[in-house]
Amino acid sequence: MKTWELLHEVDTQRKEIALTFDDGPCPIYTPQIVSLLAEVSGKGTFFMIGEEMEAHSDVVRSVVDAGHEIGNHTFSHPALTNLSVEQCRAELERTDALIHELTGRRPLVFRPPYMAYNEEVGNISLEAGYRAIGAVNGEARDWDQPGVGHIVEKSMETTRSGSILLFHDGWGDRSQTVEAVGVLLRAWSEQGYRFVTVSELLADR
Ligand SMILES: [Zn+2]
Repeated sequence: MKTWELLHEVDTQRKEIALTFDDGPCPIYTPQIVSLLAEVSGKGTFFMIGEEMEAHSDVVRSVVDAGHEIGNHTFSHPALTNLSVEQCRAELERTDALIHELTGRRPLVFRPPYMAYNEEVGNISLEAGYRAIGAVNGEARDWDQPGVGHIVEKSMETTRSGSILLFHDGWGDRSQTVEAVGVLLRAWSEQGYRFVTVSELLADR
């Protein structure tokens, strides 16, 4: 694997997976996800949009206070592959600075909006010090609201130790996602999985 490529899973012996939540923070759905994670003593990674962070900075702080990781999901959610190098860097840097300002920490992980990604975007994110993160359960398409059963089934069948899972807690009606994540967390918990942040998963290899 080339260093700039998206990381979808980690090779690990530990029974750990990393749930990720894109497009927040959202005052309605983000706290519901945080509550579900608390019920299973799990941690998650929230790939936040800069514009939404400015609008809901209190939600950002509550996510960090609960022990979760914040990742960079750009400032205005463009397809980075359509931007110039300068515009792409600006999207990452502006969000990086905002995360630092609101949480006191620099983000370590990045996810490109729409998974629009190529070598150029990859190298920009590497230069900025990020690990670029994909996911194994793209077919779950939770952003399309395909039904709770579909999200659960497609996420279950692609998951094994070291998997990174994609869900959405912002930018639309995410009630199906919240319901599906509740079902999945209980099922995976019963199977013995632990829920860690992406950075923890990377550190545990
Ligand atoms: Zn997104």
